Amino acid sequence: MMIATATTAAAQQEDSFPYNNERFADIQMLRYKVEGFENLSLRQKTLIYYLSEAALQGRDILWDQNGRYNLRIRRMLETVYTDFTGDRTTEDWKAFEVYLKRVWFSSGIHHHYGSEKFQPGFSEAWLRDVLRSIHYTLEEEIFPVIFDPTVMPMRTNQRDGEDLVRTSAGNYYGPDVTQAEAEEFYAQRKPADDPCPIMMGYNSRLVKDAGGRLREEVWREGGLYGQAITKIIANLQQARPFCETQQQQRVIDKLIEYYRTGDLRTFDEYSILWLQATEDLVDFVNGFTETYGDPLGMKASWESIVNFKDLEATQRTEKLSANAQWFEDHSPVDPRFRKEKVKGVSAKVITAAILGGDLYPSTAIGINLPNSDWVRKDYGSKSVTIGNLTDAYNKSARGSGMGKEFVIDKETLALIEQYGDLCDDLHTDLHECLGHGSGKLLPGTDPDSLKAYGAAIEEGRADLFGLYYVADPKLVELGLTPNAEAYKSQYYTYMQNGLLTQLVRIKPGQNIEEAHMRNRAFIAHWALEHGKADKVVELVKIKGKTYVKINDYEALRGLFGKLLAEVQRIKSEGDYEAARDLVETYGVKVDPAIHREVLGRYERLHLSPYKGFINPRYSALRDAQGNITDVRISYTEGYAEQMLRYSREYNNLPDVNE
Ligand code: ZN
Repeated sequence: MMIATATTAAAQQEDSFPYNNERFADIQMLRYKVEGFENLSLRQKTLIYYLSEAALQGRDILWDQNGRYNLRIRRMLETVYTDFTGDRTTEDWKAFEVYLKRVWFSSGIHHHYGSEKFQPGFSEAWLRDVLRSIHYTLEEEIFPVIFDPTVMPMRTNQRDGEDLVRTSAGNYYGPDVTQAEAEEFYAQRKPADDPCPIMMGYNSRLVKDAGGRLREEVWREGGLYGQAITKIIANLQQARPFCETQQQQRVIDKLIEYYRTGDLRTFDEYSILWLQATEDLVDFVNGFTETYGDPLGMKASWESIVNFKDLEATQRTEKLSANAQWFEDHSPVDPRFRKEKVKGVSAKVITAAILGGDLYPSTAIGINLPNSDWVRKDYGSKSVTIGNLTDAYNKSARGSGMGKEFVIDKETLALIEQYGDLCDDLHTDLHECLGHGSGKLLPGTDPDSLKAYGAAIEEGRADLFGLYYVADPKLVELGLTPNAEAYKSQYYTYMQNGLLTQLVRIKPGQNIEEAHMRNRAFIAHWALEHGKADKVVELVKIKGKTYVKINDYEALRGLFGKLLAEVQRIKSEGDYEAARDLVETYGVKVDPAIHREVLGRYERLHLSPYKGFINPRYSALRDAQGNITDVRISYTEGYAEQMLRYSREYNNLPDVNE
């Protein structure tokens, strides 16, 4: 599971590093600084170098997972971009550049967050002329995929009542597979009483053969995406001798075994080894990991991150994980749903060194893995917050004017300026290290029973755990918050984001689709509604502008605790109807008047609602024998330059993958 950034930050501090890069459409590109890389040993740098290569080799996999025409469209667009010799000053050309940059950013033709298809600002006739001029033949069937808004309109459709598989453009199911067929296929294969169930369907596409029979095409060496997986394996093998511990070598060996066999039992074994490898400074994720892109929440997109521990900041998360049992025992949920013994929550703050696959360029700021419920219950999980990315977000948001525009008064703004970053970090830590790891399913509850609502409920559960505890006196006692007031900054920004500012990411007339946005919306709206009688939180109008007004912070904490108890019950019992009711009532619909107002206020600030990162570039210096003698890092590569280089150097999959 991962946590994505909200749209609230307010930051300070001077720094000459060029955090902000170019802007286009609704995107602001940033750079992140790999603080401390130069001070690592040659062995550690070499390990990072090869793992980074492994992180980039899987790029094409995600493109194909996001839609079966994406690789063909990308290659066509890039050829036009590099080969076109005509007029590059026309409106069509400018619109073309924006379109290509958006497609790069999303690893496909649908919005990375909202999932809706991009509408090109250039005409089909113009593109046909350009393609003729460079002698490029694009299959006829692809033109409507690009230009017809009714063809593949959503990558991941979550609209209640529709056939989510048939109406989603993602490539996790064959084009003729229905939701009912997919659900039936996996329901039949689910063993009745397996205490260690595999992540069913996690690493395959479900397709229909010519006779109409369903079967899985497994993503493994020699199978679907095998060409890219072979390259990943080769780089993992080169990384292996530079691991600092034997445990980490075993992790790599097991990962390779899994990539070769596609066996999901091997994947669980790998996950256990991975979560237990906590001694190494350098660490990585590489594989099919998160299921947000599958409308049924089963099939995992490919991603990678390579990182090393931020030793100083990790002291913060270690305090939390050392007290994990205390937090579990004091949580406001029904004791039947608590873990009697919290196992192995390891938590650290990391410095990202490279982002790949579904973590690039748009990325998470915290990750908690593995996702298997039984592995988490029996072995625990590894949780990270990514310090240098959060830092880059905060630095880039400095002076953005968001706070001044949306925060109700000077006192609250001062509180946010003083404690906002600190409490944001803490909330992320609580969400990742403790929230996801807390609680348990009742015996016999199917972990997939919440279906399409599972992700929003799970993210909501982790957020509520964080919200409840960020206000706890225990945090002051542990020295994590400086006083009993600081948490209010988090309560205010959370409610402001959930009720108002996150709407800047939604187009007029659209619903909230993405899981993290749905969870923030349902928490904020539920608290607003249930605190109405006592005026705990209000939306007030001042000079025509709507603001969040929190009258009683303590009562708001009580509401968060109450909702946490209910959400935990829903998860523990697998209560699908209640999950659907909660998410649909509070987390999906948008008030059009407030939406219009927020969009207008935001537009006047000239900001971009989404951000993503250009990776640093690593180059290895070698001696005559080919041994690496140093690894240099540079931050000068541009966005388009990087994307074009990746398409050249990590061009691992054919146009059509079947
Ligand atoms: Zn999460």
